[in-house]
Amino acid sequence: MKQKIEKTLNNLSKRGFQCYFFSTSSEAKSHLLNQIKKEEIIGIGGSMTVKNLEIYESLVEQGNEVYWHWMAEPKDRPKIFPKAQYSDIYLTSTNALTEEGELINIDGNGNRVSSMFFGPKKVIFLCGVNKIVKDENEGFKRIKEIACPLNAKRLDLKTPCGVTGECNDCTHPDRMCNITVTLTGRPKLIEQEIYLIDEELGY
Ligand code: SF4
Repeated sequence: MKQKIEKTLNNLSKRGFQCYFFSTSSEAKSHLLNQIKKEEIIGIGGSMTVKNLEIYESLVEQGNEVYWHWMAEPKDRPKIFPKAQYSDIYLTSTNALTEEGELINIDGNGNRVSSMFFGPKKVIFLCGVNKIVKDENEGFKRIKEIACPLNAKRLDLKTPCGVTGECNDCTHPDRMCNITVTLTGRPKLIEQEIYLIDEELGY
């Protein structure tokens, strides 16, 4: 695993991503909270990693203005999405991180993936080492076999992956796989930081 982590960090850096490695999620969280100024506006994408680290609660406690649709009623979400996207710092994870240094994501609505590359001044990706995969093919396999079935279960969706655990490239109304984004380098107009954490986090 050590070699895999080093290779991934090295290749991410070559592609222009600013990388940090943390042994624990509490170290990552405290580094994050220390670097965020009280006056900065924060947006958050759908992320079990961010949720489980209780980052939203800590930011609100330290006085930041935070926009996260998971904390809003469905009827209020359309107003939250653009505020999160045009924030100072957008927090998210990634569905998969290849050893070649690419970030692979599939999204249903697109608010999360579009905010990864346009809108905020900076994006910080919080990723457990369980997100590392060999290459793009393995990344898509991970998304279809792990991330989507678990997300469908969490949301009680009746998509095939939610019901049987297997993807059949459905056309179900709740389909989560409508937009695919692979970041192969840092876009010039935005800062991007990857926090790689030596724990299993999210899915
Ligand atoms: S295409 Fe449908 S069945 Fe396949 S992973 Fe996506 S939502 Fe699930």
